Amino acid sequence: MQIRSVVPMERDNAKDPLEDLVRGWLEEIGEDPDREGLVRTPKRVAKAWRFLNDGHEQNLETVLNNAIFDEDIDEMVMLNDISFFSMCEHHMLPFWGRAHVAYIPNGKVVGLSKIPRIVDMFSRRLQLQERLTQQIAEALQEAVQPRGVAVVTEAQHMCMMMRGVQKVGVDTRASAMLGVFRENHATRAEFLSMLPPSK
Ligand code: ZN
Repeated sequence: MQIRSVVPMERDNAKDPLEDLVRGWLEEIGEDPDREGLVRTPKRVAKAWRFLNDGHEQNLETVLNNAIFDEDIDEMVMLNDISFFSMCEHHMLPFWGRAHVAYIPNGKVVGLSKIPRIVDMFSRRLQLQERLTQQIAEALQEAVQPRGVAVVTEAQHMCMMMRGVQKVGVDTRASAMLGVFRENHATRAEFLSMLPPSK
């Protein structure tokens, strides 16, 4: 997939083109972009959006930064409650929650801090929760070729809370199972039994 670079230009004082779009957006919803409270809003929004979408500027190699180690471990490695914030691609509204990630090594392990970084890399872009979940699993699979990877995400979607069905507290879950977690019922059951209670 070819994705246009979204690196904010090296702009010491250069204006981000997003700012004009935000200004136009404000006008379109009946606001006065020149009133005091909004004067700097286009600049702030542009900066926030560059940050929230900088996941495309990273790739697995830079995120892992060679933190792959040969290790003779064949027990499940699991990280629970990795918080994430993302934006739904349908409404460009936030969704956020927690990711639970497990893998069973096959001769190689990844530095533990790299797993939250993988989650962040895929969160900070327009997403679907289902795809986010799958991408985290596939990235870990690619990184250490383990015997299997399991990822569960739980999230709340602002687009369901503020508009649409307008329901607060709906907990949306998605999962991705690769390798032994997909093939072996007992392994998957063990993973699921180690998940923290839903919040
Ligand atoms: Zn949405």
